[in-house]
Amino acid sequence: MGDKRYKIGIIGAGTTGLASALYLDRSGHDVTVFEKFDRPKPLGSGLLLQPTGLACLANLGLDKKALRLGAPISHLKGHTINGWKVMDVAYENLSPRLFGLGIHRSALFHLLYDEVVKRKIKLVKDFEAISIKHKTKSPIIQNSLGDITNSFDLVIDASGMKSKVRDQFAEIKLNKKYPYGAVWGISTANQDFNYQHLHQRYDLAHTMIGVMPMGKASETDQKNSYAFFYSLKHENFDQWHNEPFDKWQRHVANLWPEAGKLATEFDDHSDLNRAIYHDIILKRFYNDRLIFMGDAAHNTSPQLGQGANLGLADALVFSKHLDTAPNLEDAIINYDKDRRNHVHFYQWASRWLTPFFQSDSLIAARLRDLFFNPFQKTPYINTLSIEVLSGVKTGLFSNIDPGNWHPEYSLKNK
Ligand SMILES: Cc1cc2nc3c(=O)[nH]c(=O)nc-3n(C[C@H](O)[C@H](O)[C@H](O)COP(=O)(O)OP(=O)(O)OC[C@H]3O[C@@H](n4cnc5c(N)ncnc54)[C@H](O)[C@@H]3O)c2cc1C
Repeated sequence: MGDKRYKIGIIGAGTTGLASALYLDRSGHDVTVFEKFDRPKPLGSGLLLQPTGLACLANLGLDKKALRLGAPISHLKGHTINGWKVMDVAYENLSPRLFGLGIHRSALFHLLYDEVVKRKIKLVKDFEAISIKHKTKSPIIQNSLGDITNSFDLVIDASGMKSKVRDQFAEIKLNKKYPYGAVWGISTANQDFNYQHLHQRYDLAHTMIGVMPMGKASETDQKNSYAFFYSLKHENFDQWHNEPFDKWQRHVANLWPEAGKLATEFDDHSDLNRAIYHDIILKRFYNDRLIFMGDAAHNTSPQLGQGANLGLADALVFSKHLDTAPNLEDAIINYDKDRRNHVHFYQWASRWLTPFFQSDSLIAARLRDLFFNPFQKTPYINTLSIEVLSGVKTGLFSNIDPGNWHPEYSLKNK
């Protein structure tokens, strides 16, 4: 059982693809990663790792380094711009030893990438995969220049939200762009925020500003930094971009003076990255010898900060099934079954919650301001909120325990 060694091609050197390469290489498989960039790199500013994602990193022995670089987050706090409390969710209410970790994307990327290089896992750069041939038995990857690879036993598509391979070969139930996206930047200009809290401010649901401590990009950085987030409706992006930058900076400072200080570190619009998100739902996470993982399989709104955590879990869970199933076909089917509830819960919850925070709906904003905080004081909703944030839900009444992936992150730890 699990003693067969497979040839596996992975498309994409993002969080999911790199983690998958590490788990599969550890189990002895012959892994090659294909990345479209000639120098693989992280895009965007920072993200929040949940206990689930941290347990996946710990399973690779990489969590301690992540902890040295990132910023442990104890609470998620949200207020309206008038100071009215909308939410205050504390990880310790789930288990006193649990926390989230704000981390630079480049720190997370290098954690995984450097390990891939250290283990001499094959990495083919400047290879933009556009199609798959012979996916029923011995898949081959084709790139945009028409070059093809040798055949594999299995190909993993971890090429993110815009995957061309997924668009051709997956049965897509939904691929819908959210009306709101965001602009993101990194700032060190105000060190006065509570460094253990992820803060958000809302002006109804049309404006949301977020500030997340995320530590240092590398051990040589002098200052701790923050991910700064400003939600923006797509149709308003050009208007924002054409407006004088200092006008927008003053607008931020008016809504939330402390965040305004962070925004002073940006020189112009180009210091902020634009983020667009889709809701992508697949009928199943495989097609013959091709499987889909991470954002390629289930992109969603980052409202609940789960995408990278789900991608890490996909990678770990598949490698476990490959270790234990009697053959490759069973491992693929078991992976698909095993990941469904976890992924679908977060896609559903993100779709449900996003309009309360990023939409034109006055009613949703008012309901949020009136009911979210009082509801969170009831024991069931309080526990539910922190379970949802921690990434452990597989249904309204069911959870996974990240302790299955690494004991240090178990919900049972007291
Ligand atoms: C604004 C914003 C905030 C977010 N905040 C959080 C958060 O707090 N917590 C969290 O967990 N998640 C968060 N996410 C989601 C998270 O960023 C993604 O879910 C995660 O990065 C997905 O990783 P991935 O490896 O699956 O895909 P990607 O990171 O997109 O990586 C895909 C890789 O494939 C490569 N590639 C693409 N096409 C090809 C091709 N054709 N051939 C070869 N290579 C290719 C790319 O260059 C890239 O290296 C956020 C997302 C956004 C937009």
